[in-house]
Amino acid sequence: MPDKVGKQIPVKYLNNKPAFQKARLVWLEKIFLKFRKNFYIVQAIMFLLFLYLTIAPLFASVPKSHDTIFTNVTLLSQFLFWGVWYGFCLLSVIVIGRLWCGLLCPLGALSEWAGRLGLKREVPRWVKWNGWLVIMFLLVTILGQTMDVRDDPKGLALLFLYIFVLAFIVGLLFGKRGSRPWCRYFCPIGKILGVVSRLGILDFKPNKQRKKTEQLPEYIEGSLCPTDYNLSIKSTTNNCITCGACTHAKPKAMLGIYLRKPGFEVKNIMNHSPNWSEIIFILITPGLCAGGFLWLILNDYNVFRDYVGGILLDNNFMWFFNQASPLLSSQTWNQNFTWLDVISITLYMSFYGMIIALILAGTNAIASKLISCNKEQFKKSFKIITYQFIPVAILSIIIGLCGKFFEVLHDDFNLPELIEVWIKSIMLISSMLWTFILSYQYVFSLQSVAFYKKSMALLLVIINILMILYMWWPAILGQGYMSEVEMIRQHLIVPGK
Ligand code: SF4
Ligand code: SF4
Repeated sequence: MPDKVGKQIPVKYLNNKPAFQKARLVWLEKIFLKFRKNFYIVQAIMFLLFLYLTIAPLFASVPKSHDTIFTNVTLLSQFLFWGVWYGFCLLSVIVIGRLWCGLLCPLGALSEWAGRLGLKREVPRWVKWNGWLVIMFLLVTILGQTMDVRDDPKGLALLFLYIFVLAFIVGLLFGKRGSRPWCRYFCPIGKILGVVSRLGILDFKPNKQRKKTEQLPEYIEGSLCPTDYNLSIKSTTNNCITCGACTHAKPKAMLGIYLRKPGFEVKNIMNHSPNWSEIIFILITPGLCAGGFLWLILNDYNVFRDYVGGILLDNNFMWFFNQASPLLSSQTWNQNFTWLDVISITLYMSFYGMIIALILAGTNAIASKLISCNKEQFKKSFKIITYQFIPVAILSIIIGLCGKFFEVLHDDFNLPELIEVWIKSIMLISSMLWTFILSYQYVFSLQSVAFYKKSMALLLVIINILMILYMWWPAILGQGYMSEVEMIRQHLIVPGK
């Protein structure tokens, strides 16, 4: 690889006319070129940190009421995982792409290392199926609740263990040197980050636009890019892990890093390979995440649980009242889930996810019908309008998980409750405004559609946005969920009693 960056960039690309090339970040490409061979050091440090934060709480004492994140590793681990890491990862993608994946993530690095030792099999078609995004997301989100990963150190350690083992096996079977099939096809975190990255301002794209037929052998699937992009015709960001391996790699067809407006890809989604699994993900996320939060605070859940329990009792299915397997549920301190709990939580979250998804899809479909004159136009409008809901879908994940962050700010840094309400409200309202503005721009860009139809379509989008706001209201203003750890810290329960 040549070491002088300037020599690798043909001047005709740097000075080229097309508008998209004006915002090329050559300085960032140079940083990647200089440092990416050392990324493995950062990944190894992160791996050890992950290991420590997952394993140390298993041997630590139960947090006492006077403990803080500085005196108890369980509190520190919960704060870093759920208060900082997850929210930071999601939000940072908008500004720095999936740098978490490319530079820091120990899971992706482990899967890549496994690929060096492994069987190097061809990736079969079933692995490339787009639907894994939805399945893995559902599985991990529901398991996260039944295993109470935010509060139960054993639940957190087990869930990460499952994911690490899976990533290792996928790497071992299908990985090759420098490739990451786990990241591309299975990782639930990566898939969520991939959807967010469509809103992001960084884009790795070919310096020279090529036709599909004009493929270069060194840039086709499985050769240079760890997530199997066919680089010379790359047009999306959702599978790009911001590893920088493609910039300056080969002068002929290299990719550059370009700056673009936030939301650019989502706004022009029809030119950036929209897919149905992302659409389903966007539709189910607000409801599923709200279900995962609301079962903890609403009495509805207890009514639902009693109803399910009643049916099981009437039919003499007593087994469901036994303690559930610790491999799938939380059994800690004062909390022992039965199979009834596991089933009720799963059903409650799934119902919530499904019902809200159906309402969102139905309303978006009516809005699309209003502004379309034929079936093709209808499909296109439905896809475009649904993609504009990415900001609220992602904020739903963040609000559902950010409780730990505020819990610690309250207890250890005396943050007033009002400021918490303000921060959450600003985040939620900004995401809703973003969805609204993107939808408005699309709907009112349709010249041939009557004004009243466009207004009605936009009104339906607003109704959907308000429904999501209403759903999250308890989380924003008032009814906060109090975790078991928090109850201990507030002297409300004493562990073991
Ligand atoms: S896709 Fe998943 S495993 Fe891969 S680097 Fe990103 S977060 Fe880590
Ligand atoms: S396109 Fe591929 S090689 Fe380039 S930064 Fe993204 S993941 Fe890495």
